Amino acid sequence: MAMLTVKNENFFEYKFIFRNNLLLLSDTNKLPEDSVMQKCIDFQLAKDMFSESSHNYTTLHLEENSPTPQNHKWVPLRSVFAENAIFSPIATRAIALLNWRNKTRFCSSCGSLLHDDKFETARFCANCGNIFFLL
Ligand SMILES: [Zn+2]
Repeated sequence: MAMLTVKNENFFEYKFIFRNNLLLLSDTNKLPEDSVMQKCIDFQLAKDMFSESSHNYTTLHLEENSPTPQNHKWVPLRSVFAENAIFSPIATRAIALLNWRNKTRFCSSCGSLLHDDKFETARFCANCGNIFFLL
């Protein structure tokens, strides 16, 4: 399934906001609400964002110096695993893809900017046709 860049407030059930490799949770250890996601987009704090409908999540990757939303905190993913949260495997997938996308922005063959592939979890070069996969 394809990764789709977020265009508006069509967020899926699981909402992951990362800054560096830390996950944003509310003070009550819940994932952020739609309104927090939308504010991060409105204030242009996200350097990348996408959704995967097949895994029912939307994720944002915030700039390193982004402020912490009120009544929220940044936690390492491993602490989420320790609490056995149901969304841990999906959050791990999200941050892995965000980090990969951050390092796979340009085609290694021709240097052109890559785009999300329409059909696969991959990046596509419109100039030379190369497709880049995470693995
Ligand atoms: Zn290329």
